[in-house]
Amino acid sequence: MSKRRIAIIPGDGIGPEIMDATLQILGAAGFEAEYITLEAGQPALDRGQPAMPPETVEAIREIGIALKGPTTTPVGKGHTSANVALRKALDLFANVRPTRSLPGLKGPFEDKNIDLIIVRENTEDLYAGIEFQPHPDMAQAVKVITRPGSNRLSRYAFEMARKQGRKHVTAVHKANIMKLTDGMFLDEFYKVAADYPEMEADDIIVDNCCMQLVTRPEKFDVVVTENLYGDIVSDLCAGLVGGLGLAAGANIGEKTAVFESVHGSAPDIAGKGIANPTALVFSALMMLRHLGEREKADLIGRAVLRVLKEGKVLTGDIGGTATTVQYRDEVLRQMAASQ
Ligand code: NAD
Repeated sequence: MSKRRIAIIPGDGIGPEIMDATLQILGAAGFEAEYITLEAGQPALDRGQPAMPPETVEAIREIGIALKGPTTTPVGKGHTSANVALRKALDLFANVRPTRSLPGLKGPFEDKNIDLIIVRENTEDLYAGIEFQPHPDMAQAVKVITRPGSNRLSRYAFEMARKQGRKHVTAVHKANIMKLTDGMFLDEFYKVAADYPEMEADDIIVDNCCMQLVTRPEKFDVVVTENLYGDIVSDLCAGLVGGLGLAAGANIGEKTAVFESVHGSAPDIAGKGIANPTALVFSALMMLRHLGEREKADLIGRAVLRVLKEGKVLTGDIGGTATTVQYRDEVLRQMAASQ
């Protein structure tokens, strides 16, 4: 039987370093695939290509599954985001970002039992990228929210909640101010909620949500929200449970799924060999589960949790001094010890 094909996009910044570690860990768990390595971000720009080259998009579309490292987007100038381009081109409408308390990690939230999933809309909102400048002293952006887009996102969130045995779905919005756009999003959320009577459904204004995520994070279960709020709230949630080095994500479409960490290319530490690969490893575990490889995912997941709990070999972002390679080797050692 031919091997399953998976598109690999190392990206730039810390991307290649953490991708390397992640693929070695997948291999040690016995996961076999034919990896097709594709270019995006700085390596593509260096060759005079767009940050997300059309061939890369088409190859991911054809292969159907991708594991992606981060790609840099300049602030306030330069090329547009490779990520936004990819999500729109492949209609990866749902960005799923779990946040869970992890063992052994110190911080203000270490005594909280956090276990929530953010389902962020991934193709609309201010990320539609429609900006113009009608006057030198004025710039405008268009916020795009559609009924079908809001409806399918909410349906995805409720279906996921049902499959995972979750009980409570909360819509996050600012419909008190943006009555048409966020009002439409909320309207569709409650229409869909009516089809899931076993699920508790409620909503919260985004600013209050941020406050409550910090004061009572354990009360949230599934959070469904628009693109910009989801982007901000998911970094906030990453901060609750140890930081961006641990936060995984998946971009899901009808036919294609792209798995990638929440974090970016971390230019401040790129090339130093000290990046934490856990977020990409956890994203890869979401990919394994998506592919039905639950046992291999559990084997890796248990090893990572043991490494975090023991706390002897950790990268700098979570209080240790280990390099990416030392941390990877410790995960491999824990996997071998449990097999
Ligand atoms: P960032 O997530 O790259 O970094 C924020 C901070 O977290 C930095 O101090 C960084 O060192 C640290 N950090 C992030 N990931 C880490 C890891 N795995 N291990 C250890 N420390 C880690 O955010 P930023 O600096 O705002 O963005 C840098 C670039 O990444 C920007 O160009 C941005 O557009 C891009 N970006 C890309 C993606 C993506 O490709 N999906 C996502 C977010 C940001």
